Amino acid sequence: MSGNADATLCDMTLHELHDMLLSGQVSSREITSDVLARIDEVEASVGAYVTRDRETALKGADAADEVIARARRDRDTGAIGALVGIPVVLKDNVCTRGMRTTCCSKMLEDFIPTYDAAVTARLREAGAVIVGKGNMDEFAMGSTTQTSVFHVTRNPWDLERVPGGSSGGCAAAVAAGEAVASIGTDTGGSIRQPASFCGVVGLKPTYGRVSRYGVVAFASSLDTVGPITRDVRDCAIMLKAIAGRDGRDSTSAPDAVPDYSSCVERGVQGLRIGIPEQFFGPGMTDGVRTAVERALRALEDAGADIVEVSLPLAEHALAVYYLVATAEASSNMARLDGIRYGYRPEGRGGMDVADLMSASRGQGFGMEVKRRIMLGTFVLSSGNFDAFYGRALRSRRLLAEDVRRALTECDCLVSPTAPTVAFRFDEEPDDPLAMYLQDIYTTLANLAGVPAISVPCGLADGMPVGLQIMGRMFDEATLIRAGRAVELTSGMDAARPKVGGCAK
Ligand code: GLN
Repeated sequence: MSGNADATLCDMTLHELHDMLLSGQVSSREITSDVLARIDEVEASVGAYVTRDRETALKGADAADEVIARARRDRDTGAIGALVGIPVVLKDNVCTRGMRTTCCSKMLEDFIPTYDAAVTARLREAGAVIVGKGNMDEFAMGSTTQTSVFHVTRNPWDLERVPGGSSGGCAAAVAAGEAVASIGTDTGGSIRQPASFCGVVGLKPTYGRVSRYGVVAFASSLDTVGPITRDVRDCAIMLKAIAGRDGRDSTSAPDAVPDYSSCVERGVQGLRIGIPEQFFGPGMTDGVRTAVERALRALEDAGADIVEVSLPLAEHALAVYYLVATAEASSNMARLDGIRYGYRPEGRGGMDVADLMSASRGQGFGMEVKRRIMLGTFVLSSGNFDAFYGRALRSRRLLAEDVRRALTECDCLVSPTAPTVAFRFDEEPDDPLAMYLQDIYTTLANLAGVPAISVPCGLADGMPVGLQIMGRMFDEATLIRAGRAVELTSGMDAARPKVGGCAK
């Protein structure tokens, strides 16, 4: 979505707004006020935010305007970073000093962090304006944002449909013009699937590329933090801002961070794009298949070589994910006991420690979180450990090997991001297993640790379809390059959500 002359400020891309800030055409106060006005207009129907801080946002905008004015006076606009004065939203599992961080759980409803997550600090240092916190599935467990303790978020393309999850609030906010860009988290698809459902770009970086310090853990060997943005260029800018080594996250990698923006327009001439046959079998809807196949033809026309590859074990990814993720979740959730952290029930006089913990956890956690804790505890229990968890770990290694081998035959792997477009609230499967199938194409990247992006590639039933591109470890640059080629031919710059967008 770029270069639209009718766009209101809050519907423009980060890079367009940056150029306008540099030339003095607009101020951050104007952009931020426009975003706040859009929030006032649509938030009652979209429900993307759980916390907003108008005053601090406007103060941040004024500070950014001063930085810009000074640089312009000194004729040094090159010193103005790409994020200065840009309004962003952070998922509510990313710690923000002084602003509550709830994971959309009753357990952390009143938790106000005394420190910033690494990504929060980097965005602040880069001059971004933090508008508030995005709604999410409780503790990031889900695919619809409906397990939030606060309220549902509605898809800006059709308010009768889910925005996806778990980073559904952030994806909906970016789609509806309630923020220019955002930060989500992805353990099994939670950046990519909501990005796909809301017609925006979402990137799950390589494991270790972005520090998780200060991000509430769900499944530590799978958790990643990444951007959700309006277009691929914005995604490159945001990734550059948050990536890189951080001594406070021992899994964060020392590898140098490339200038992703310089890769955006490289094109796909000669790029070898692998199509894993296992990701094009039954399961996806016809509309999704048609949109993805059209995008593949467009990539071929743009000069890419399309090659068929095989990921023979891919069908097991979902099962392995739900064993590893629940096991790690049950361990990470153990700290939320009402003693050191989290909700404590009223009227606890006379309770012993065990009763207090069980009352805190019984009342503080919602259904889906409890289901995951129970599944995870079961697979880790001594009698089952090897049959389930041990086998899952061994399978994970084989799956990662499959991905690595496929990526020696090609530069990246393409598939749909999700098997369906955003479904209606009344079509939501009641069976948790059917819901877990939403993650069929996304979990493999987390298990293998590789990066993956979702880019809108067309519409089906009037709803956006996301194309997923998976790449080699630390090769986000290729995903950005290929993602931009998809964006250029998708026709999506003419499509707009019903709420927000720049149709009016
Ligand atoms: N939908 C997946 C789940 O429920 C993914 C969650 C995530 O990536 N945080 O586990």
